[in-house]
Amino acid sequence: MPAVLRVALPVPLLTLFDYLPPAAGEACAGCRVLVPFGRGRQVGVVVAVEAETAVSGSRLKQVIRLLDETPLLDAELMQTLAWAADYWLGAPGEAYANALPLALREAKPPPALGDEYWSLSSAGHSAHDAGSRRGGSKTLLALLAAGSMSAQDLTERLPGWRETARRLAAAGLLERSERSPPDRQLPASLAPQLNDEQQLAVSTVGASLGQYQPFLLDGVTGSGKTEVYLALIEQVLAQGKQALLLVPEIGLAPQTVRRLRERLGVIVEVLHSNLSEGDRARAWLRARNGSARVILGTRSAVFTPLPQAGLIIVDEEHDSAYKQQEGFRYHARDLALVRARALGVPVLLGSGTPSLESLANAEAGRYRTLHLRARPGTIRPPQVQIIDMRAQRLEHGMSPALLTAIAETVARGEQALVFRNRRGYAPVLLCHSCGWHAECPRCDRPLTLHAGRRQLICHHCDYQTRMPVTCPTCGATELKPQGQGTERLEEALISQFPQVPVLRVDRETTRRRDAFEQLLATLKDDQPAILVGTQMLAKGHDLPNLTLVAIVGVDEGLHSVDFRAGERLAQLVVQVAGRAGRARKPGRVLLQTHQPEHALLRTLLAHGYAAAARELLAERRQIQLPPYSYQVLLRADAPMREHMDAFLTDAHAALPVSDQLQIAGPMPAPMPLRAGRQRGQLLLEAGSRHTLHAMLRSWQLALTVLPSARRVRWSLDVDPIDLY
Ligand code: ADP
Ligand code: ZN
Ligand code: ZN
Repeated sequence: MPAVLRVALPVPLLTLFDYLPPAAGEACAGCRVLVPFGRGRQVGVVVAVEAETAVSGSRLKQVIRLLDETPLLDAELMQTLAWAADYWLGAPGEAYANALPLALREAKPPPALGDEYWSLSSAGHSAHDAGSRRGGSKTLLALLAAGSMSAQDLTERLPGWRETARRLAAAGLLERSERSPPDRQLPASLAPQLNDEQQLAVSTVGASLGQYQPFLLDGVTGSGKTEVYLALIEQVLAQGKQALLLVPEIGLAPQTVRRLRERLGVIVEVLHSNLSEGDRARAWLRARNGSARVILGTRSAVFTPLPQAGLIIVDEEHDSAYKQQEGFRYHARDLALVRARALGVPVLLGSGTPSLESLANAEAGRYRTLHLRARPGTIRPPQVQIIDMRAQRLEHGMSPALLTAIAETVARGEQALVFRNRRGYAPVLLCHSCGWHAECPRCDRPLTLHAGRRQLICHHCDYQTRMPVTCPTCGATELKPQGQGTERLEEALISQFPQVPVLRVDRETTRRRDAFEQLLATLKDDQPAILVGTQMLAKGHDLPNLTLVAIVGVDEGLHSVDFRAGERLAQLVVQVAGRAGRARKPGRVLLQTHQPEHALLRTLLAHGYAAAARELLAERRQIQLPPYSYQVLLRADAPMREHMDAFLTDAHAALPVSDQLQIAGPMPAPMPLRAGRQRGQLLLEAGSRHTLHAMLRSWQLALTVLPSARRVRWSLDVDPIDLY
């Protein structure tokens, strides 16, 4: 009876694939294998070794080559991945593909574990001496003239160096080498004396090391959460264990890495999407062999192997960046909890604005809550004040009170932040004569005017067109931008405050990854300045001279059809407001709205996030929405509306009959047309997770064989975080 290997392949099919074992070597679960698949080859992961197969033995193909002598994925990770694929309804192979760095999904042996170093060749030294290069090349040559440097150091010192290095290496001026990582301790800097609340948090979590226990660390930005993380990581290191720290995408600044490394005195392995594939694979492998003690990473780092796990931390746990929104739709925070349980370690979720899910878990006693209320080193929390915009003369969307506050702030030599969560110049371009407005032909939504680029851009599908000079309908020349985006606010602020530097921070001005940090770095701490920008401004490094935060227009968030909009808005307002008064100077926050009586805003401003969250939770409980019910969203889109409708109707009919299941739809998506495709959905809801999940897999399998499924694109989203 031949043994059979059950292999997960990176294809969007819901099955594992059976193969005969390779001619040489012994494949076991967790090893990678190269197999024939269709007309090509694929790298897969052996999930199980079975004695028998359902496919008749003669039709089975043989594994071409075994890629790992010992399992690359350990038993815990294999089990967690199988669980994750099942829970989020992923194809098994997609879960494994998400867990493995790209370089390890190729049919090559794992890369050597040395650190990457760069140095000048003799031609490079001559070029440096001759001063024959300019710009980035010159800077890089100068950096390396003093001696070789590691890739990690280069990334910290010279963002974007890799492109330059590649060019200079091709010209024979640079050389790349690999060295084994130093195992000596780096000098560690001193921790501040923790305050009482921090000490309590550290001792409480510290007492749970070695066992599974979730904690919610509730403290606003600047309350000292990172110091708590650092103290706990020190304890974990002292026990010879590993710590994993997850951060949402935007928070991962080089500063964070440096702060960790300087304090802990060990190498911090970084895992995020902007690393070179080689670096990513090396960091992953060092975690796997236990030599990486502290791992800092974004969403996908939740899959890092942790053979000596001691602690998992999820910073800014409420951040939606933890949910992957395409392909394999997992949630890294939720997976962190699953892993912590499997590994028998505590998991610490930190946030100043915890998600309602986590608050509900804390309320139900599943998580233990730790509070950090005092802000170390600050005088008092910022004062928040509402500006009623009704019946006010607005200057490009800004009220006189708001402009006065900015003027006073910069006159004192301090900095102001003007927050508006919309890029571009204006969200609508309107013809004053006939009422025509510019609309995306593929989405039926208004195009955003980007005046600097003289373009109209669709923020939903990226459709772009030149800004018209005259109205395409009536020929009038009076085309008026309606509403404000960051670009327009920037223009208005520059004309109002010509003496003060105005810095715009949004996706347009910060295309390059490090541009944001670099932009902020140009701000002198003690000089007046005005920052204007989007959500990106909610985070980033400390601006001690920032004392005014002006929030312009949050009213869209109060009208949204998404039931999570209130929660998001409250989180955003608190996060942005938290930027004011971080140092010794007291801060002030102004919130401009047409709805000063709105219940959520009033609670938020009068009693803070915790009170607002309590009200939102009570509402959710009353109308049985998550976290008090469980949802799965079937999305479908197609160029033709009939095809989409037919599929969703069939999908509806394929559902089991159950009075435990509430079904909404088939119905058009909140955005029924996007990028030229008709979109619809079917929402399932149940009071128990178990009821819902019990029927999902068989339903999913039924959907894959529906004839109407062939004419649509469809996906299932378990615990969706938005309904679009
Ligand atoms: P968070 O992670 O909650 O945003 P941090 O841990 O980064 O907060 O702390 C904010 C600032 O306060 C940092 O500059 C940090 O060094 C400082 N800080 C934190 N705790 C203390 C303390 N106990 N004593 C003095 N300074 C502290
Ligand atoms: Zn017109
Ligand atoms: Zn569009």
